[in-house]
Amino acid sequence: MKIIAVNAGSSSLKFQLLNMPEEHEITSGLVERIGYDNAVFTIKIDGKKVKKETPVPNHKVAVELVIEGLLEHKVIASLDEIKGVGHRVVQGGELFKDSVVITDQVVKDIESLNDLAPLHNPANITGIEAFRELLPNVIQVAVFDTTFHQTMREDAYLYAAPYDWYKKYGVRKYGFHGTSHQFVSERAQELLGNKDAKIIVAHLGNGASLCAVDGGKSVDTSMGLTPLEGIPMGTRSGNIDPAVLMLVSEKENKTYEEVLNDLNKSSGYLGVSGISNDSRDIVENMLQGHYRATLAHRIQIKRIADYIGSYYVYMGGLDAICFTAGIGENAPEVRKDVINAIKVLGITLDEEENQKRGERMISTADSKVKAFIIPTNEEVMIAREVLRLNK
Ligand code: AMP
Repeated sequence: MKIIAVNAGSSSLKFQLLNMPEEHEITSGLVERIGYDNAVFTIKIDGKKVKKETPVPNHKVAVELVIEGLLEHKVIASLDEIKGVGHRVVQGGELFKDSVVITDQVVKDIESLNDLAPLHNPANITGIEAFRELLPNVIQVAVFDTTFHQTMREDAYLYAAPYDWYKKYGVRKYGFHGTSHQFVSERAQELLGNKDAKIIVAHLGNGASLCAVDGGKSVDTSMGLTPLEGIPMGTRSGNIDPAVLMLVSEKENKTYEEVLNDLNKSSGYLGVSGISNDSRDIVENMLQGHYRATLAHRIQIKRIADYIGSYYVYMGGLDAICFTAGIGENAPEVRKDVINAIKVLGITLDEEENQKRGERMISTADSKVKAFIIPTNEEVMIAREVLRLNK
């Protein structure tokens, strides 16, 4: 059966059409610059990207464009072939402990969490509403970035701040990248042949987070109330003393919002190196001896190792660490330096395997803690959830 996985942003809509339960990608694509006259619709046909520039005033028109594209290129013969739609929703708060079949009430509940994810949830809802309007009789499922982490205990998810902030405003750690952490850790359990395994997933992309998974459950993760917390990323600072906000806002005559924007958009690899947010540029310049690119890399490795050490202690051991996402899957230098930084845990890198791509073990056969590359697939995870709830 054909299921479409959707990721709607404020001005973009990404989709992937999958055959389930085979988990086979039929096609994928995206609409960019929604809200503009020169929006671009891209769809993959026979492995090639077909592009079309056209005005797309809103998400409903974007969804119409996707459906028309699927019909025009004969990917589907009729709309009836689409049996389910899975929507990525960033913030599920404490309301959603599982994926859910979308109803009017569910849309209202997602809206009630807008304060916690003002940039993401409203955009996710526009995607949901557009698909519900065009495919009213098809099951639609919301899959949240946060639900996988709802198994964290209070000592892991609460900040040591006034408890009232948690009770009144929901100030706590929620964590993100949940579909990816779940997909990768489930695969690692299979590879290890152990459902009770203690696993750390390092989702290292432009956004990056780590997750400690014990017996299939997330017990801690590095992102927090928002995706700004945790390890440094392409343009995000990760953890920083909040007092920096006041100091920099005074010195640079900026509002807190502007400084927060700097921490989200001008920090991490980009801020430290002064070159780029892209790990390829960081690694390339580091290999040529660029001081600040090297520093950006070294800070990154140290912070990742800090988390791994703390998760090792919190879980009382570790069976495997898994690298995934753009950097985790493609940057052998990053994997190598992370593994070297944590070798005290009993992990040894297989240098040759580490140079290769695709799913594989990259630790030596006698390594006590195993290391894997496991390419993530959030779309498959979303489609699996649609299938599971389509009873
Ligand atoms: P993602 O957010 O998962 O799409 O990952 C984006 C990040 O992956 C960017 O920082 C890219 O530089 C990085 N990336 C993608 N391909 C490579 C590669 N071949 N080598 C190193 N980094 C890569």
